[in-house]
Amino acid sequence: MIRYCTKCVMPETKPDIYFDEHGVCSACVHYERRAEVDWDTRRVELQQILDRYRSQARGNYDCIVPVSGGKDSTYQTIRMLQMGMNPLCVTATTDELSAIGRRNLENLERLGVDHIEVTTNPVVRRRLNRIGLTQVGDISWPEHVAIFTVPVRLAVQMRIPLIVWGENSQNEYGGPAAAADDNVLTRRWLEEFGGLLGMRVSDLVGQEGIEPHHLIQYTYPDDESLSEVGVTGLFLGYYLPWDGWSNALIAQAHGFETMPTPVEGSLVNYENLDNVQTGIHDYFKFLKFGFGRATDLACMQVRRGRITRSDAIDLVRRLDGRFPWTYLGYPIEGTLERIGMTVEEFITVCDRFTNKKLFELDRHGALVRDHWGNLTRVNDDNP
Ligand SMILES: [Zn+2]
Repeated sequence: MIRYCTKCVMPETKPDIYFDEHGVCSACVHYERRAEVDWDTRRVELQQILDRYRSQARGNYDCIVPVSGGKDSTYQTIRMLQMGMNPLCVTATTDELSAIGRRNLENLERLGVDHIEVTTNPVVRRRLNRIGLTQVGDISWPEHVAIFTVPVRLAVQMRIPLIVWGENSQNEYGGPAAAADDNVLTRRWLEEFGGLLGMRVSDLVGQEGIEPHHLIQYTYPDDESLSEVGVTGLFLGYYLPWDGWSNALIAQAHGFETMPTPVEGSLVNYENLDNVQTGIHDYFKFLKFGFGRATDLACMQVRRGRITRSDAIDLVRRLDGRFPWTYLGYPIEGTLERIGMTVEEFITVCDRFTNKKLFELDRHGALVRDHWGNLTRVNDDNP
């Protein structure tokens, strides 16, 4: 039996979650603590940090804002401009940029910022997607690496010490920029927050023809260069009350485009619009841990009192973990073809990473699939 949080609908299989004696998950407990946060004080703290780095700029940019073009990075950029910063927006191009993702990046530039987009070699990138998918069950592995390494590399090269990120999964942490000293984003920091699933960039050399020079943008700068520039970072989600939906409303008022219908496997039409491979990424989370993007979103809305827990159970049961035949309307056949894989091969990779304790099996121990290839979660009717 999978145990679920008694307040939201998160299963205990989520990595790094724990349940208290009342069966309430740590994410709900953290969210409730937000009611006690003095946001006015945090905003003053944020302004003080920004002032410190702005005064150091001397003709350079005040900070780097890593941007995907999504609702959160659009919101981050709006806030930085409102707070008097001159940001350099930096994009590490996603694994497979969608058309709507491209339009939202162009919209972000129209907010009135300089923008650098670093696009890594797409031939190598697709090999890395394939290696990530088949070896650690994460097609988005190179994207997760590049969104950390690319802005930090540019911070060193362009001598811009402050990087302004959005939310941090560990909500209680504002980032090292607030510390008076010893606040550099060292490699130790990357390993704590970057989450590389045990696969190191250096392990890739020699696989599928990958050579060291293919991996420059995936390589984190050395600690000496980071210290020399004093590269540091903060998470805006610690300083400003963070909510995806309200970020989306603000972003939309500034030209951000949403999908006409909710995204496949999701509850909403305003997030994860920039990478065609995200459907596969989210499906693997479902296979490994028994929950998908719909669960994440339903939990956030339940915590905020926007939907009831029983409605969340219903929405999750209907939407979570469907086989990702399309994403943002792009058929999976094309997405897989670009990484050199057929749907049949993909399904065998899926099986390898599926936690068979979480899904219904037939009497021979094989996964039960419906006509559309969908699995059934065990005790999915009793969260
Ligand atoms: Zn919970």
